[in-house]
Amino acid sequence: MNLVVLGAPGAGKGAQSFALSEYFGLTHVSTGDMLRDEMKRKTDVGISVTERMNKGELVPDDVVTELLKDFLRRNQNENGVILDGYPRNLNQAVIMEDFIKIDRVISVNVEDGLIIERMSGRLVCPSCKASFNTHYKPPKVKHICDNCGHKLVTREDDKKKTVKKRLKTYHEETEPIINFYKAKGILTEVNGAFDIETVTKSIIKLLGDD
Ligand code: AMP
Repeated sequence: MNLVVLGAPGAGKGAQSFALSEYFGLTHVSTGDMLRDEMKRKTDVGISVTERMNKGELVPDDVVTELLKDFLRRNQNENGVILDGYPRNLNQAVIMEDFIKIDRVISVNVEDGLIIERMSGRLVCPSCKASFNTHYKPPKVKHICDNCGHKLVTREDDKKKTVKKRLKTYHEETEPIINFYKAKGILTEVNGAFDIETVTKSIIKLLGDD
């Protein structure tokens, strides 16, 4: 089974993708993590996307599509994958039909006001990628990762002005995908305004696997 998780930045698509990947035994594929890794390693791709990523804009379709295809070629998972962050626009949704068959699409819906509140407290571990939130899921020791003890940071693109820009990008470019999948009859929408576990349980129930 191949799943796509859609959601505005801060809607919890990363956390839900992770939880669902564990539950269903799927490979979690985050194009945002792949791009951040390229940036950290200062590869040609990483350098070419840094400015757009930091401004909250989408990176070019061909760049992210090649990274994803390469990842899928190298990481076969017989159970399937869960795509977190791809597709991000209609063009990507159409292109991907040539290289992967999607069975179900989950849209995690959260209103903008709550997203801005959530993201103002988001902290991530640059080492093990765990994420925390000063409002909802604080680390046990202030600014220190519970898992690996690394110092937590605010992602450059989680800063307030950038969050607003990313929300605008989401509404303009990513939201139209929802209707694309609705028309195909494979869309499941879930209210993402609750805590992570509650939302995960609703998704599993909606997918008919509880
Ligand atoms: P995310 O971690 O999914 O919120 O992604 C962080 C950033 O990576 C986005 O704001 C975009 O700049 C870039 N990005 C991730 N996935 C894609 C994609 N499928 N297409 C274009 N840009 C992407």
